[in-house]
Amino acid sequence: MSAGPILQLTNVGRRYNEIDRELVILDDASFSLGRGEMVALVAPSGAGKSTLLHTAGLLERPDNGDVILDGRACGSLSDEERTAIRRNDIGFVYQFHHLLPEFSALENVMMPQMIRGMKPRVASERAQQLLDYMKVGARASHRPSELSGGEQQRVAIARAVANAPLVLLADEPTGNLDPVTASYVFEALEALVRQSGLSAMIATHNHELALRMDRRVTLQDGKITTVS
Ligand code: ADP
Repeated sequence: MSAGPILQLTNVGRRYNEIDRELVILDDASFSLGRGEMVALVAPSGAGKSTLLHTAGLLERPDNGDVILDGRACGSLSDEERTAIRRNDIGFVYQFHHLLPEFSALENVMMPQMIRGMKPRVASERAQQLLDYMKVGARASHRPSELSGGEQQRVAIARAVANAPLVLLADEPTGNLDPVTASYVFEALEALVRQSGLSAMIATHNHELALRMDRRVTLQDGKITTVS
């Protein structure tokens, strides 16, 4: 473990080639996420928030620049090494929960731990603790279709942190929820991040929620700039 920022983007470029032009989404974008820091990413649709989160989360490779996680430069790593880092050190929450429909809430949260090789009993205990923490423990045996939208997202958040990642990346995690539910789910997410000392970058359109985080950044002309 290094003492510097938990996550760094150094001069990251990401371009999409269209038929008649090149779309520049990230243009030498740089950013540092401190340990235990919670940062809001607030930018209009199409600005490149998902591209940024996918690149930071090693789901996409940048065209130039690098992503440095806990002092480790990830650009030169193989796909297998990047997959292992994604599985163990990065938690992802999407706007849509992406829970596996044929499994219970508990099994969904156990899954990443089982893939990592944890014993079922240990994985099950941790999954139940996380569901309890997210105040959805009483729904552990239910399948996603039997849960409300807010409950589904709380299970998805529990799953994202099941392997105690270094960084949590969330792409509009409350974007599909009504304002009251969004606030409730966000409160649980915030408590979990703060309590576990996780570092998080959360894309949101909700300014009220963004104001509750440590810092706000935006994307402008492919650069990441601090708003406040
Ligand atoms: P946001 O999350 O802020 O809405 P995105 O990162 O999803 O923005 O997209 C940024 C821009 O890049 C959009 O104009 C989008 O159409 C474009 N884009 C995203 N993914 C691709 C792709 N795979 N191929 C071409 N263009 C893409």
